[in-house]
Amino acid sequence: MSYVFICIDFDRDYAIPMDKHKHAVSNIIKNESEEITKDPELSVSLKGTIESFNPLITYLNDNKVPTTFYHEARSLKLFNKLQQNSFSKLNQPFFEHGLHGYDHEDLTGEETGIKFSEDEEFELLQSAKKEIENLLSTEVHGFRAPYMKLSSNTIDILSKLEFTHDSSIYKQSEAGIFPYKINDDIIEFPVIKTPKESVMKGMYTYLWPLFEGKRSEEEVVKNYVQILKNSKDKNSYISINLHSWHFAYFISQNRYLTKTEIQKNVVAFTNLIDKLEEHGAMISTPTRWLEENNLF
Ligand SMILES: [Zn+2]
Repeated sequence: MSYVFICIDFDRDYAIPMDKHKHAVSNIIKNESEEITKDPELSVSLKGTIESFNPLITYLNDNKVPTTFYHEARSLKLFNKLQQNSFSKLNQPFFEHGLHGYDHEDLTGEETGIKFSEDEEFELLQSAKKEIENLLSTEVHGFRAPYMKLSSNTIDILSKLEFTHDSSIYKQSEAGIFPYKINDDIIEFPVIKTPKESVMKGMYTYLWPLFEGKRSEEEVVKNYVQILKNSKDKNSYISINLHSWHFAYFISQNRYLTKTEIQKNVVAFTNLIDKLEEHGAMISTPTRWLEENNLF
């Protein structure tokens, strides 16, 4: 049996790094005036996340699907302001809430040209963690770096802030994998990327190609089922990763989708989960995995 984690990066609609900006800017806003893109709050479009939210959360809550959210603090705060009635639906005992930056920062500064000192990064992640803990009245133990890019200080900072695990590193595999200790305190839960030469071809376990029309639903299901079948090690895990806005925003066409199209994407996602469960997957979260497998 393999564990399957559903991991949702809860962020502004397609966050992109911009030169000389600490915060990310939603793709749809990148050509606006500097007055707008310089402002971290005005740089956020949540339209896709908001329009995806109800069909997605209804499925997750009705079926009590264990799900891990990695939140960008700014977007969660804005979501709470704009969608007060929906917000409480995130408070479920079967959900795990982790951190995904304050403003989807590029912690390495490689893309933005702005590097964070260790103190600045500590303060940034500390305030973002507190924000999420307050908004959701929960404890935050997991981290996923924006753009999957850790700085050379991030893991140490996570230790100091009492995180227990991170999920920001890709690992090549054709089968389920195991987490490992990345320092004395933090367990790394890598995200699988299948090798180019495998039958799945080079596939990141993000649902990006599905929502961007690059791989058919049938192919995506077949590939995940294949990884599951390859997973002979008991208690190994596979994660399925996606973004909160991707049901409703088509990046390569730079457009928001219609209600019917959004529904179709949600159905494709739920069909995938159903199929994996039919093949014996146990849907879970990193924290539950750590509780159930006393490996560290
Ligand atoms: Zn993100």
